[in-house]
Amino acid sequence: MGVIQDVIEKVNEKDRGQVEFLQAVKEVLTTLEPTIIKHPDFVKAKIYERIVVPDRAILFRVPWVDDSGEVQINRGFRVQFNNAIGPYKGGLRFHPSVNLGIIKFLGFEQIFKNSLTTLPMGGAKGGSDFDPKGKSDNEVMRFCQAFMRELFRHIGPDTDVPAGDIGVGAREIGYLYGYYLKIVNQNASVLTGKGLEFGGSLIRPEATGYGATYFAAEMLATRGLDIKDKVVVVSGSGNVAQYTVEKVIQLGGKVIGLSDSNGVIIDEAGIDSKKLDYLLDLKNYRRGRISEYAEKFKVLYYADKSIWDVIREQSIKLDIAFPSSHENEIESVNAQAMVNNGCFCVSEGANMPSTMDAIEVFQDNNVLFGPGKAANAGGVAVSGLEMSQNSMRISWSREEVDQKLFVIMKNIHKMSLEASEVYGKKGDYLMGANIAGFLKVAKAMMAYGII
Ligand code: NDP
Repeated sequence: MGVIQDVIEKVNEKDRGQVEFLQAVKEVLTTLEPTIIKHPDFVKAKIYERIVVPDRAILFRVPWVDDSGEVQINRGFRVQFNNAIGPYKGGLRFHPSVNLGIIKFLGFEQIFKNSLTTLPMGGAKGGSDFDPKGKSDNEVMRFCQAFMRELFRHIGPDTDVPAGDIGVGAREIGYLYGYYLKIVNQNASVLTGKGLEFGGSLIRPEATGYGATYFAAEMLATRGLDIKDKVVVVSGSGNVAQYTVEKVIQLGGKVIGLSDSNGVIIDEAGIDSKKLDYLLDLKNYRRGRISEYAEKFKVLYYADKSIWDVIREQSIKLDIAFPSSHENEIESVNAQAMVNNGCFCVSEGANMPSTMDAIEVFQDNNVLFGPGKAANAGGVAVSGLEMSQNSMRISWSREEVDQKLFVIMKNIHKMSLEASEVYGKKGDYLMGANIAGFLKVAKAMMAYGII
């Protein structure tokens, strides 16, 4: 058996049941195969074996009291995967589906994503099986305080700097940071995604969606195309989806679909900036459902469906897809339907939203496929810029941050494309991004010796 296959087998045996983690390991390691020949030193130092085991995984109890006075217990996680190139960095996810395997998959992906940004950040991820949906603000606050009561001892501006992810937005970051400040008594850059009044960066909320759109534009440019007048479908309607829609509108594209965990809207006329304002208010302040958008603008609504099922079942035409909701949302049957319906570009706003079979369908059909770790790296990149601004005690303007984000996304695209060419599969962004991200981390690990 080859080195890569050996490592995959071992993960399968030792981390049994961590399905998403195994999937991420397979997806990354199989594309690293060409590095084996060029880097026998990595094989000798067992870099491939070492990189799939986290530096440490912290599990903790999060007890809190709900509004009716009942004690609730959730599980808390922080997986500090690899800090070879900088302090651990990666978001916190609050969602009932969270478990160790999901946090490990996200932390593992984060290593390569952070490396691609060219900023000095290691890979980590954390979260809880707590569901903020349907909870009062007071309950969310009590939960966040209980979560930070343990997390604070594992993080620090030069150690580990968490951020948001699914279920963790501006409100949650505010409660988490406020409690950190209270118990540690240090106004430190220990979280990103902070409010502008307390050390946040302009463009951080927009960064992942804007970045995924910039990445798509770069891919399209390789074929002499752009986003103008293209028909776009975005899944989800959270942070990443919202600002993808905003940037696509700015670049002249037409977004016709969005979703949430209850259903899908198809707005054939296209979502314009007025409708987007309504959506931002609905999702971020009133915490409502996407069905209310359908009622308000009298558009089609499909309850209890994924948007990719709707694209297939209703034969909806599209040019570009931005899966921006959750892992494994696109399976091969829907990938094939997307291709049949005209989709020629997929830029992943979410982490691992396409299954490995779905990716194969895209690649076999010459679809421009931007994998999450490259396409959605804009969020963590601007988090890195937030840390820089905090350290320097300055704030850059909107234009400055957006310009830096644009340049970073352009570079990530260039590095991924170049690595795909050097390693023999030009245009395979999945392989290119994995290899480009991996090499920097592997070289740093080599420099440190066996630790
Ligand atoms: P949000 O919580 O803001 O939004 C998530 C959206 O996806 C919501 O519309 C939610 O619906 C929907 N959703 C989540 N899980 C499911 C599910 N299991 N089934 C159906 N719908 C679901 O999260 P973000 O926008 O921050 O994150 C979205 C994706 O982007 C995630 O994969 C995340 O890891 C990734 N990402 C996020 C970054 C960021 O900066 N925020 C950075 C890089 C990647 P509902 O509201 O009904 O729950």
